[in-house]
Amino acid sequence: MVDDVELKYLRRCVELATEALEAGDEPFGSVLVGADGTVLAEDHNRVASGDRTRHPEFELARWSAAHMTPEERAAATVYTSGEHCPMCAAAHAWVGLGRIVYVASSEQLMVWLAELGVPAPPVRTLPIREVAPGVIVDGPVPGLADEVRALQRRFHHAED
Ligand SMILES: [Zn+2]
Repeated sequence: MVDDVELKYLRRCVELATEALEAGDEPFGSVLVGADGTVLAEDHNRVASGDRTRHPEFELARWSAAHMTPEERAAATVYTSGEHCPMCAAAHAWVGLGRIVYVASSEQLMVWLAELGVPAPPVRTLPIREVAPGVIVDGPVPGLADEVRALQRRFHHAED
C-alpha cells in the first residue's frame, strides 16, 4: 500500500523525471529514503551523455553501497517513476537495499513505448520479482502513472 507520505516521494520522482526530460534525457527519476523518512539521495536518467547505464536506480544503488551500512540499506526504500530494469534490479539486490515502490510498471512502459513505435531495448524487460525475488515491491500507482505516460509521450514527441 502507498500512503500520502509515500505519494510525496513518488511525486518527487515524477518531478525528477520531468527535469530529465527538460535536460534532453529520458524521463525517469528516483529517490532513496532512509528508514526514518529522510531523503538521502535522488537522481534522474543521464543516458543522454552516451552512457546508457546511467539510470537513477543504478546510481542510487552504488551511492548506497558507498554511504550506508548494510543495515541502513536493508531498511531503506527506493521510490522510482518507472519499475527498475533488470540491470537496476540486480544492482539493488546486490547492494542489499530494501523495498521498492514504483509509479509505472515495466509492462506499462513497454506498452506505451510500443504505441509510440520506439524500438525494443537491447535488454529484455522483466518484472523486478523475476530478477530479485527477495525484494518487496509495490506499484503501479494509477493516478501518477498517467503523468509518467505523458512524460514518455513528450520525450518521443507524440501528440496527445
Ligand atoms: Zn535501469
